[in-house]
This record gives sequence, C-alpha cells and structure tokens, in this order.
Amino acid sequence: MTGQTFARTLAHGVQSLARADPDLYALLDREQVRQHETLSMVAAASIADPSVLVCEASAAGNVTTEGYPGARYHAGCDIVDEVERLAVARARAAFGARYANVQPHSGSTANQVVLCALLEPGDVLLGMDLRAGGHLTHGAAASMSGRFFRAVPYGLDRTGRIDYDEVSRLSREHRPRLIFCGASAYPRTVDFARFRAIADEAGAYLVADISHIAGLVAAGVHPSPVDVAHVTTTSTYKQLYGPRGGLILMGRDADRALPSGRTLEQTLQNAVFPYVQGTPRLNTIAAKARALAAVATPEFRLMARRILELAWHMASRLEAAGHHVLTGGTDTHMVLLDVAGEGLTGRIAERALESCGIVVNKNSIPGDPHGPRITSGLRLGTNILALRGMGPGEVARCADLVSTVLHRVRPLGSQEYLLDESVREEVSAEARDLCRRFPLPDHPLPAGAADAYPRSGHGQRTVIGPVLEDAG
Ligand SMILES: *Cc1c(COP(=O)(O)O)cnc(C)c1O
Repeated sequence: MTGQTFARTLAHGVQSLARADPDLYALLDREQVRQHETLSMVAAASIADPSVLVCEASAAGNVTTEGYPGARYHAGCDIVDEVERLAVARARAAFGARYANVQPHSGSTANQVVLCALLEPGDVLLGMDLRAGGHLTHGAAASMSGRFFRAVPYGLDRTGRIDYDEVSRLSREHRPRLIFCGASAYPRTVDFARFRAIADEAGAYLVADISHIAGLVAAGVHPSPVDVAHVTTTSTYKQLYGPRGGLILMGRDADRALPSGRTLEQTLQNAVFPYVQGTPRLNTIAAKARALAAVATPEFRLMARRILELAWHMASRLEAAGHHVLTGGTDTHMVLLDVAGEGLTGRIAERALESCGIVVNKNSIPGDPHGPRITSGLRLGTNILALRGMGPGEVARCADLVSTVLHRVRPLGSQEYLLDESVREEVSAEARDLCRRFPLPDHPLPAGAADAYPRSGHGQRTVIGPVLEDAG
C-alpha cells in the first residue's frame, strides 16, 4: 500500500473516539452490531462496503470549495478535483451516460435541482401519486415540489400497474412541462419509452428517478432510462450500496438546446451549483466513486441477478402462504404486501417483525384507509439478503418467518396487539441464526458481540401498541 497516512489517521481516530467519547463510540458500535444481527429486508437500503465507509471518513471532507474540477472558486483543490473527475467518469461508465453530476447531496436534492432548473414557479408537473407509490419530491403536497409547482398526480390501474392511459389523458388535459416517472413503492418494470412518448406529445421534459432500481439499471437487468428520459436522477445509498447522496445523469439529450439558448447539460450543471447547492461534500464524492466502481464489475451484475431472483422467490412464497402480494409478484427487488387481510396495519406488522429482529417498512397501498404513519401495507426488498449471499432456500425461510409473525399477531383490545413470547423467541432465534450464517461480507464481527436485541424479559408475551392514527 502506498502511503499509510490515511490508514493511520483512521485507526487513530477510532481509538481516540473510543477513549475520549465512550458513550458515542458505544452507540456507533452497537449500531454496527445491530446491522449484523438483524434481518433487514428494507427495500430502500443497502449496506455500504467498508471501503465506501472509509471514504466518507476521509480528509477530503475537510476541503471547502465551490464549483467544479478545474473551475473551483478556491485554492488547494488539485487532489479533490481528481477525486471528483474519477467519480464523474465512473458514474458515466456505470450507466453509459454522457453526463453525470456527482454533487447532489441526496436524491431529493437532485430532484429539486431538476425542478428548479427546468420549471418556473407555478408550472405544471405530472408525477406519480404518493399513495400509489410515488416519491414526495414528485409533486406531493407535503413537499416543495407540490407547493411551488402545480402538481397533477397519476395513479395505478386495477391490477396495480401504472395506468399509462391515465398518464396520457392527464398529460393531454394539463399540458405539463415536466413528467416524473420512477417510484418508491412499485414492484414492476417502468416503461420509460412509453413515458417519453407521452412527454414528447406534451412538449414536456421526462425525468426518470431510478433511486430504487439504480443497481438493476446499472447491471442491465432493468431497462435503462438514461438515453430515454431527458434527465435521470438517483440516490446512491439504496441499490448502489454507496454513501447517502444523489446523482444526476443524462444520455442523448445532454446537448439539447433549451429555449434559453443553453444546453440541458449547461443548465443542470449550473442548477446544482450555484442555483441550489453550495460546497460539495468531497468525502462523499470519493465514496460515490468507490461504490460506482464496484457497480461496474461482473460480481455486481451477478448480485443484481440474485436480487431479482430472491425477490421473485420471496413474492411467490408469501403468496403461497396466503398473503396478498400486490400486483401478484415483482419484476424488481421489491415485494409489496397488503396486510389488511391478516387484520393488521402496516405499523403493527412492522413493529411485530422488529420485535423479532426483522426490519421491513410499513407502506401505504393504493386506496389505503390509513394515513402514512399507520398504513395497510409492508414493503420488503432483497438488496441486503443478496449481499449476504443468501439463496432461494434461505429467502424462503425469511418469507416463512415474516409469514409466521403476520399470522400470529393477534388483536388484544382495541389498540394493542399480542405476539406470544414463544413465537417471538423462535422467530428471533432463527432470524439471528440466518444473519450469522450469512454475515455481511467484509464486515468482520468480533466474537462474543452482544446481542443488539436482548431478550425482552416481558414474560409470557410481547404486547405491541397502543398505536394510534396520529401517534408520532
Ligand atoms: C428515496 C427516494 C428519493 C430520495 O432520496 P434521498 O436521497 O433520501 O433524498 C427520491 N426518489 C425516489 C423515487 C426515492 O425512492
């Protein structure tokens, strides 16, 4: 290894944190153990490799600057310029993109940048309804995207698929300037070409947000929007196994001239900085560069295939056990369940599973009678199971554990639910055993680590609740 300064600084930093601030150190250590020992099926998450994590902890984060490589507003940037150029080159290579901007601080920021760059306040945008699986930043009333622009939502048809006829009808009726496609809770392939045809008819920009499926797209196992949409955005910590952050990508439309006389590429470059953001996080950009290099490997392509295969097995196993799988299956990493049939809410199901060391997300489903804090659905994903190296057999066990809990949680009075301690103990033990047999790669777990989920000591049963509609 050339140069030991980085490694020695990190090792020293960890030691001095443990010595000088044992409370904080212990929390961070426990979080590491929790991630080892819990069976996470969170569709919006992945586990970054330690080689990604250390980039975030690097001294590149100490550099204050503005602008882009070769055109900074500050001195002392020669090295970080190379870091950012590397990240841009790797982002372009991973997605076959002509343009990449690696500075957005998050996926939400990337979407804000695109909205602010391409629209005037009050312009019409078409985005998937939050309740149908869309993202807040695609025009939801609770977000600036729905406050500063006139957002028209589209939804799903009776089979739970995107209703392209409705999108087309709404587009003709409202003449949007921008159409968002891509979702946070949608398990099926998005037909980007169909969206582009609708956008072209309205003279609208098409923005594809691939935050959830970026890994599948990079690996070529989901169609890519990069040359189909005008602009593609993504977060980097979901399926790219990278740091918390965002990317903006463009393909063949990058050098399209806009009415302003400037190209789309120039417009977005200036929209990230100085229009929306200030200083870039160069440490995070280094971590993006590391994650994007991993995404371009044959090993990653194999893992993307495994993500899909495992999700398919998860969906079929749950459906065979009598659960309501939305759309009847999946084309992605994601499986959506409606748990109303089990007499549960998403919130209760999520809590019951967490009490067994299994982490999933509650999720609104189409026509949900409950608000976003309660919901009637669960969203599961296979990113982390695939990373752990599980196969179809283990994923069937994961599905069975989820199924057992969903079948065994029973109402106790009006707001509380009950899970027998024997069930909880059994499911927890098997979940932990699966995690230990399929450890996170390259994350060494010291022997004798404490259980992140110690036994409850509640005696005979675990009471979950009360959970009220307006509870935080
Ligand atoms: C998660 C997500 C985002 C937001 O990304 P952040 O980096 O968390 O801000 C944007 N769009 C979609 C579709 C998402 O799923």
